[in-house]
Amino acid sequence: MDSIITRIADKVWKLSSDGNIYFLDFDRKIIIDTSARANRHLVRQFLSKVVDFDKVDIVIFTHLHYDHVGNFDLFSNAEYFASGESIEDFRKNPFAAVLMEDIAEKLKTIELKPLPQEFHGLELIKTPGHTKGSICLWYPDKKILFSGDTLFFNKNIGRIDLPTSVPEKMNESLVGLIKYNYKILCPGHDY
Ligand SMILES: [Zn+2]
Repeated sequence: MDSIITRIADKVWKLSSDGNIYFLDFDRKIIIDTSARANRHLVRQFLSKVVDFDKVDIVIFTHLHYDHVGNFDLFSNAEYFASGESIEDFRKNPFAAVLMEDIAEKLKTIELKPLPQEFHGLELIKTPGHTKGSICLWYPDKKILFSGDTLFFNKNIGRIDLPTSVPEKMNESLVGLIKYNYKILCPGHDY
């Protein structure tokens, strides 16, 4: 377990768990996804070694499934961002967007803001498929692709049979990622 937290590039950290968390120590302190509630002890124990949770400015969700939003409330001073489509799906049917009732209820207590196209050195890539609002984030400086549950290692891809999935869009989203020619892939799970 000693490598659960790893520095994957300058100013970029990864907490490996089922539901990975990435911490970007930029001019603003940015967290990408927050893992599942069940991993809260790991987040507390290990992610706290590299960032003071109260100092996190921004939390970005690649989508709103429970294993990506489960510990959002550890970062109580942050602003929370997701795609406009994810926010819309959540408003329509919180359970379908989150897939866990109690986490969906908790998530209703925060303001989710739509993520701009360019954001603190990151580019938003809309990749509908796994969910309608799924996004990837591109960090051009280091050629890192944060791929959420759209793309995993060894060309594994996310499920497209979930309540807010749009299976007919997945292929187009994956083809759209090819041009990014990433050096480092940072998926939502290490599949
Ligand atoms: Zn998911």
